[in-house]
Amino acid sequence: MKARLWQTLFLVNTLITTEIIFAEVVNKDVRDLKEQNIMAVLFQQTAAERLAGSLQTFRSARQSLDKALADPTWSALPGQNIKGKKTAIIVDVDETVLDNTAYEARMILDGTKYPEGWVSWGKEAAATEVPGAKDFLNYAASKDVTIFYVTNRVVELKEATKKNFTQLAIPWDQSKETILMRGENNWNSDKGPRRELVGKDYRVLLMIGDNLGDFVDAKDNTLGPNQRKDVVEDYSDYWGVKWFMLQNIAYGDWEGALYDFDYSLSPDEVHNTRLESLEPIR
Ligand SMILES: [Mg+2]
Repeated sequence: MKARLWQTLFLVNTLITTEIIFAEVVNKDVRDLKEQNIMAVLFQQTAAERLAGSLQTFRSARQSLDKALADPTWSALPGQNIKGKKTAIIVDVDETVLDNTAYEARMILDGTKYPEGWVSWGKEAAATEVPGAKDFLNYAASKDVTIFYVTNRVVELKEATKKNFTQLAIPWDQSKETILMRGENNWNSDKGPRRELVGKDYRVLLMIGDNLGDFVDAKDNTLGPNQRKDVVEDYSDYWGVKWFMLQNIAYGDWEGALYDFDYSLSPDEVHNTRLESLEPIR
């Protein structure tokens, strides 16, 4: 009888424990999801390999810029009419020129998610330089190439962005509008219309970004992961020659593509989609 009681108690205990463990596995919250970013943010912030990759990209971009300046037929905008135009480059801002990984680290530690705290972080104007960006951009400016910053930062952050650039000695042409923000002139997150606008007056020599949408229009950027890779293949002649991609493993539309750009998913749904997207056999 006593043995039976112990057996029953053991079973009950096992059931309770299992239930607790099960509950921990399925009930993901925002904090749990952000913690999945720890390795990515550590890579961006601490890896010598990230530093080397970033310097490598900007060094290559500089070499291409020299070639572009020597070749009057060169354009980084597919199909562009280049006749008689001044030269420019189109550069993204976040994770291309300004490094916001401190904000990423804060979200992990605070258990919060974008866009919470983003505007106030931007207003601090405390982003650091993406390694190699400043020297490259100053070189381009020294060659009389106009730098257009095409960014999806909200227009509310325009002054703070300029302040951040100034503090980091990042050059921008103040004689005209060269920082083109989301929300200005009815521009949405599709950068295509802004690239087109720059291309009307300027021969675009290079484009630099950390997101596919920094190079192609939203209709191509907002596809599924495999179709986005196909788009990259379609432009295989451009990469490393006219288009330069910085690595950003902490965030980007590559992640949105996993969820079909549905940002209303619950943390559990996000977590499960991430698990389902892993490929144990390729
Ligand atoms: Mg970016």
